[in-house]
Amino acid sequence: MSTLVKKIVVVGGGAAGWLTAGTIAAEHDARGETGVTVKLVESPDVATIGVGEGTWPTMRMTLSRLGISETEFIRQCDASFKQGTRFDGWRTGAVGDRYYHPFVLPQGYATTSLVPSWQALRDQVSFANAVCPQSHLCERGLAPKQSSTPEYAAVVNYGYHLDAGKYSQMLQKHCTDVLGVQHTLDHVTGINAEENGDIASLSSKQHGNIEGDLFIDCTGFASLLLGKHYGIPFVSRKDTLFIDSALAVQVPYASTDSPIESQTISTAQSAGWIWDIGLSSRRGVGYVYSGQHASDSEAEAELRRYIEPSMGKDAESVSFRKIAINPGHRQEFWHRNCVAVGMSAGFLEPLEASALVMVELSAEMISEQLPVTRETMDIVARRFNEKFCYRWDRVIDFLKLHYILSERSDTDFWVDNRDDKSIPGSLRELMTLWERHYPVNADFSQIDEVFSAASYQYVLYGMGFETVPGPATRRSLPDDESDKLFKENTEKTRKMLAGLPSNRELINRIKESGLRAA
Ligand SMILES: Cc1cc2nc3c(=O)[nH]c(=O)nc-3n(C[C@H](O)[C@H](O)[C@H](O)COP(=O)(O)OP(=O)(O)OC[C@H]3O[C@@H](n4cnc5c(N)ncnc54)[C@H](O)[C@@H]3O)c2cc1C
Repeated sequence: MSTLVKKIVVVGGGAAGWLTAGTIAAEHDARGETGVTVKLVESPDVATIGVGEGTWPTMRMTLSRLGISETEFIRQCDASFKQGTRFDGWRTGAVGDRYYHPFVLPQGYATTSLVPSWQALRDQVSFANAVCPQSHLCERGLAPKQSSTPEYAAVVNYGYHLDAGKYSQMLQKHCTDVLGVQHTLDHVTGINAEENGDIASLSSKQHGNIEGDLFIDCTGFASLLLGKHYGIPFVSRKDTLFIDSALAVQVPYASTDSPIESQTISTAQSAGWIWDIGLSSRRGVGYVYSGQHASDSEAEAELRRYIEPSMGKDAESVSFRKIAINPGHRQEFWHRNCVAVGMSAGFLEPLEASALVMVELSAEMISEQLPVTRETMDIVARRFNEKFCYRWDRVIDFLKLHYILSERSDTDFWVDNRDDKSIPGSLRELMTLWERHYPVNADFSQIDEVFSAASYQYVLYGMGFETVPGPATRRSLPDDESDKLFKENTEKTRKMLAGLPSNRELINRIKESGLRAA
């Protein structure tokens, strides 16, 4: 007899737990007739991680699918608009060393590439500035839309900066009030197995046994179900990505109308890099570093130097929150009737804010492929594992790319990062290809790659990489066609610079009068 999969139990009430519970509840109508129920169990004794403030543009679709108003999201989560990342000091560390990885695609990207034509101009204009308007908008702190642009629509592609604590609270309220997710505040103390090894139920301190058909492990670094109960090995990637520690701090704005940066700023340091994220209410700043290359006190001193221009004397006494990071992921993510999402599945330094997008992608696939019966679950599990093992590898390659292109030799951290032994073979292979042709989507095997070839282009050419095409490579664009595309970009940029409000202005207007519903 087939066993229907109807009771979904999510363990953990951080961003991963609520996003996954909400996505499944919304798509499977957890308050309607389908019979699917979604229960989220969250420990009152274990705090959520409470950091993680940068998202991808995918978050717009995710929030919209959950039925959350963008206006309410921006108001409740102190959110602001993010249009990419600016990397300061990554290439040489010299004054003025900076480049952008924006969210928009280069002009003409769908049918051609401006890379070869830009290479002839590389001493005059940066790649991002030549091929898209977004780096110009970021330079001036402009918003990606107007106050008349409807919710979730964009003039240029954007994601968000948000307050992680407020974000989880907002998701909790929406998921329970609107989407029918049942919320149990209790500490899970044990896991009870069926004879066949599936999880039958969870023991809890106050609610007895909590039964389910599918269990989603969103317990963060604890990885209670997949890691501790099933013992699925953790695959450390510290040999490639050295960052294993973080110091985080909140920095106030000088005044309520201080400008809000339109991008995450990532500034290279002696043993890692500092993130700087502008919310509407404050900045979130943190140093992620390699404990092999700097002591905690050295890292603290560097972070204090970074915030000193903004905080003055207070920078000397402010205390930092220390978070240990174990870079890597589980060997598989879906085992029997248990799947891990979020930090219980793995975590890597937040250089490209890839954690929440992996949560969104996991929640989407679980929800879309939700097995109707237990009999089909192992097939879905195998496919899920294949897809996400591939995705973790691609994220690791992309993060490592930022380091291997650096010319910095001022500390061992930067030198060690270029050591061949630390570079995955898949990335070395791509680098060899890209010496002779610019990145194209056909360089990758999946149609839904986490990072498109455009992202690789922005980082490679932003960091000064040169592609020297051989005689056999495809023809570059005729001059008149590339001129036309460059001009189109210049014109688009001019119009946007003239027509878009500042990030702060738009946020203020949304707080006052809201955005029009889509
Ligand atoms: C320094 C740093 C910076 C980051 N920056 C970014 C960023 O810019 N962008 C991005 O996308 N991501 C970022 N992340 C990652 C992001 O914070 C996480 O992916 C996200 O918050 C999801 O966390 P989580 O829900 O998996 O875990 P958590 O927030 O840790 O939640 C775990 C949950 O499990 C519950 N739990 C644990 N044990 C039990 C138990 N026994 N019984 C019941 N419940 C239990 C806890 O109560 C909690 O509710 C960053 C992370 C770090 C460390």
